[in-house]
Amino acid sequence: MNKLKLIGPFKQLIPMTGLSLKGAISDSELIIVEDAGILIEAGKIVAVEKFNELHRKNSQAETFRLQGDHVALPGFIDSHTHICFGGSRANDYAMRNSGKTYLEIAKAGGGIWDTVTQTRKASKDALVKSTMKLANRHLKNGTTTIEVKSGYGLSVDEELKMLRAIKEANDGTDADLAATCLAAHMLPKDFDGSAKEYLNKISSELFPILKREKLTNRIDAFIEESAFSESQIAPYFQKAKEMNFDITVHADQFSTNGSKVAVDFGAVSADHLEASTQKEIDLLAGSEVIATALPGASLGIGCGFTPARQLLDAGGALAIASDHNPGSAPMGDLLTQAAILGAFEKLSNAEVLAGITFRAAAALKLADRGQLAEGFLADLSIFHSSNYNEILYNQGNLKPCMVMKNGEMVYNKHK
Ligand SMILES: [Zn+2]
Repeated sequence: MNKLKLIGPFKQLIPMTGLSLKGAISDSELIIVEDAGILIEAGKIVAVEKFNELHRKNSQAETFRLQGDHVALPGFIDSHTHICFGGSRANDYAMRNSGKTYLEIAKAGGGIWDTVTQTRKASKDALVKSTMKLANRHLKNGTTTIEVKSGYGLSVDEELKMLRAIKEANDGTDADLAATCLAAHMLPKDFDGSAKEYLNKISSELFPILKREKLTNRIDAFIEESAFSESQIAPYFQKAKEMNFDITVHADQFSTNGSKVAVDFGAVSADHLEASTQKEIDLLAGSEVIATALPGASLGIGCGFTPARQLLDAGGALAIASDHNPGSAPMGDLLTQAAILGAFEKLSNAEVLAGITFRAAAALKLADRGQLAEGFLADLSIFHSSNYNEILYNQGNLKPCMVMKNGEMVYNKHK
């Protein structure tokens, strides 16, 4: 069954190899393989080199010969989404645009709590379906790995419903879904007790089930005035660490504190960072934490972007994710948002592409993807173009014409 496959020729193939995980990257550092082919076996890349060479040496391989000019990039990785949810927040969005703040809407009973109510009303099967639908949309747009958070259940049973739905959705889509438990999204309004008691209940009752059912190995928390303080989260993360969960943090969205918690607990990533000052930037840059910009949230809320340029110049590792969620980031278009962040923050194309490929893979601790090289998954975003610079220049309007996941063509516009 493990037949060799050869795909190409690609006018340009950008393997995203040989680049550093941290710090600025100039476009001149990008390797471009011209007239390239990719040899694939059992879903993984066996070789990347000139198509004609590969074809000559592997005449027995099943060959997908491309017509016209194409550019190949690694399948994109969206390391932060909330695509498992019920309902819509179109009314919140309208309220916010007519002058109410994010915190005012939350205090008025809208915001995250509204989505919690709608998600609790939805059956698990309905959540599986809606999550698969959004995942398939991302996949068609070139994103082959998608992180998906819980966090709209906010009780042991309802968080389990979400995480089981994400697991089922993962089985039903060609994209890889990486689940994260975000039970610490906010203190649920119907919880009869303190934040400390809620977090204690989640960590003692939910965490062991997450391990037993292999629902996720990642624990996230929202550190913010409207959610949890650093001192409330500390024992929760301590418990998560003791149980060998990876930690990730919603940090510095409106106020700073979250990034310090992320660094102190050795989080894999600190996401948002719109409010980070030079102090937090230096702290993150001096750590192993992947700083993740979420331009979709800035666009949805109408606030400034994560200081991506400063983070990179300070030596930080920058991933870029969509934060696709029903409230603050409904667009859910990673490539468009990454292109816009690049224009506003003056990022090189290499830095933007790194942020949605190998640097995002690092934020999910997935060492098998995000680059096109021997041994990596054959996950590809393929564009009808002769010049990779066209992709970000078109600001997301140039979509992939083909997407490959684990060596299988899962989307082909030409068919
Ligand atoms: Zn988020």
